[in-house]
Amino acid sequence: MERVVQQLDILTETDKEACELPRISKEENRGNSRKMYIESYGCQMNFADSEIVTAILQEQGFDTTADFTKADVILLNTCAIRDNAEQKVRNRLKHLTGVKKNRPGTLIGVLGCMAERLKSKLLEEERIVDMVVGPDAYRDLPRLVEEADGGQKSVNVFLSREETYADISPVRLNSNGVTAFISIMRGCDNMCSFCVVPYTRGRERSRDPYSIVAEARELFNQGYRDVTLLGQNVDSYKWLADGGLRKTELNDSFAAPTGISEESKASANPESGVPTTHSQTVSFAQLLEMVAQIHPNLRVRFTTSHPKDFTDEVLHTMARYENICKYIHLPAQSGNSRILKLMNRTYDREWYLDRVAAIRRILGNECGISTDMITGFCTETEEEHQDSLSLMETVQYDYAYMFAYSERPNTPAAKKLQDDIPYDVKIRRLNEIIAMQYKHSFERNKQDIGQTYKVLVEGFSKRSEEHLQGRTSANKVVVFPKKQYKKGDYVHVHITDCTKGTLLGEAI
Ligand code: SAM
Ligand code: SF4
Repeated sequence: MERVVQQLDILTETDKEACELPRISKEENRGNSRKMYIESYGCQMNFADSEIVTAILQEQGFDTTADFTKADVILLNTCAIRDNAEQKVRNRLKHLTGVKKNRPGTLIGVLGCMAERLKSKLLEEERIVDMVVGPDAYRDLPRLVEEADGGQKSVNVFLSREETYADISPVRLNSNGVTAFISIMRGCDNMCSFCVVPYTRGRERSRDPYSIVAEARELFNQGYRDVTLLGQNVDSYKWLADGGLRKTELNDSFAAPTGISEESKASANPESGVPTTHSQTVSFAQLLEMVAQIHPNLRVRFTTSHPKDFTDEVLHTMARYENICKYIHLPAQSGNSRILKLMNRTYDREWYLDRVAAIRRILGNECGISTDMITGFCTETEEEHQDSLSLMETVQYDYAYMFAYSERPNTPAAKKLQDDIPYDVKIRRLNEIIAMQYKHSFERNKQDIGQTYKVLVEGFSKRSEEHLQGRTSANKVVVFPKKQYKKGDYVHVHITDCTKGTLLGEAI
């Protein structure tokens, strides 16, 4: 079932690209004899994983290429969230048949969620595939490539309870040099009934906070100014201490986050305030604070927040730090409590609205809020669909990612519920919520006219090199005449006009 991105004018161009287009590796020649090409589909977690995969294979002597016809190894890092995501990969594999004919030694690997979902069945269904590699098996890639080089089909879809790739320094792909993603956790334990993620990415596990801080600091030192902390449910991030002394990963300028417990502060170095042991538990709010303290010029974002775990503590931490961006992606999925129960989201409409009220109370009206919505979930009535519309009307989201329900094999919904809403009804409902979001995005942007925002410049605007493009703290895209400014600068921009997807203004 189609994610109707083409119709979503409310999404910025950048968002549309992120949703629809695969990302491909860039050309980098270090004089190595073999080349890898990686094409990534789906969510930001996948894009971040491709950077880990690239680091692992670069270590093995692979250069990267942006041209798959020149590659010795072609990798597709796949998504399985909706059926159309998998169809896209299958079509791509058909296209790659020609490449194998022209360069018979070329290896083709399918990585990520689709690999995990289909396992070795994928080798039977797609004959040109040589390697099937699940999201927790990337360290094994050198061995799998070697096996495939020897003419054997290779598979590793083992899901781990520990793997976080914490020690691997990702090779940034498609980077603008200003913004970067950092995975802070993997997997998901939530079991939303419609969702395939718990089966394709395994159990939830949090990454060592000190490795996260080290990666963010390294990015800052390289000139990056905006990091997004990634997880399926960042609010359940929890690092349980027992790692011992890790002085090398700490930096003298790092002060103990004020959110850390008294007990933890007691174990901090009295001079620098640096925690000296891992004998403390780190929550998501504390992690946010640790990253925010790296430098006031490093913006910190995060996604995704699950309404059931989203705490006031996180909101208060956001309020304390100017550099923690005032933008929250808080997927509702539905505005109706019965449907939310069937979805096993473990919150109801009232709970969700209470979380939105907390955002407005603690961070004010300017905080950006976006959502994910699904139309036509099993047994959804017209009235229940109207509840989704009225939830959107109440919240007035800045953005929304909207989907028609796509049944995924072996999920609880596929096993226990009937996918009984006809396709055309799902799409009609989808179009209704799209139209509503269209209106709200424009309304929310119009409220910004006359305001001045601090914008981090990410590059030239899509249309002209005379204009720059950046984002506000609330994640709104701003386009303005470039004057003397350049990528990586913070610029105060007075907003003079807007479209549904973009604010327009003048640097002041
Ligand atoms: N962890 C995030 C959360 O809980 O909100 C979402 C991760 S999922 C990769 C992104 C979005 O895809 C979900 O929020 C949901 O709206 C949508 N999605 C997941 N499974 C779907 C399905 N079977 N059909 C349609 N949309 C789906
Ligand atoms: Fe899927 Fe729910 Fe986990 Fe999000 S929280 S990844 S929707 S199971």
